[in-house]
Amino acid sequence: MQLLKDRILRDGKVFPGNVLKVDSFLNHQMDVSLFCALGKEFKRRFADTEITKILTIEASGIGIACVAAMYFDVPVVFAKKTQTKNIAGDVYKSRVESFTHGRVYDIIVSKEFLHKEDKVLLIDDFLANGSALLGLAALVQDAGATLSGAGIVIEKGFQTGGQLVRDTGLRVESLAIVSSMDADGTVHFA
Ligand code: 5GP
Repeated sequence: MQLLKDRILRDGKVFPGNVLKVDSFLNHQMDVSLFCALGKEFKRRFADTEITKILTIEASGIGIACVAAMYFDVPVVFAKKTQTKNIAGDVYKSRVESFTHGRVYDIIVSKEFLHKEDKVLLIDDFLANGSALLGLAALVQDAGATLSGAGIVIEKGFQTGGQLVRDTGLRVESLAIVSSMDADGTVHFA
């Protein structure tokens, strides 16, 4: 998606450890007009797919998922991150390894909000090694619901996640795929 690529080239910053910072429009300050364009593009790409719910992960996925949900006219559920060892109650739980923070945590969704009748679109801001997306997919599978696909804003194509997740058979639509990032801060697209 050219609009997004242009914005990454203009405002993205490359940090050590293959981290792309897009805090000025996606991860801290949020450009909601851009989010609308992203949401419309997700809807266009998944126009042929039945979707009854969007599932994302706190915190950065929530804003984009909510705006996208306006175009799909479905509710958004976000998985909560928790480090509690014993989680009580009726929840689906899986494990995610954070790429940016380098730690492992559980994610949970209440059984109240995911049902076997649901056809779920996963949405997240980044796809790197795939742990977040696979963790979300596991919650959907535990609920017996249908995985309709995944919408990613920025995929870092030089990391393993895209291949790993697509190999499970999940349809992944990424709006921008970064093929490499130079030490001088230049971002290249696939
Ligand atoms: P994965 O689980 O695919 O390794 O990483 C995806 C998650 O890590 C996303 O939810 C995102 O929050 C975070 N993430 C991974 N890579 C980057 C990056 O380069 N920049 C930013 N801002 N977040 C990232």
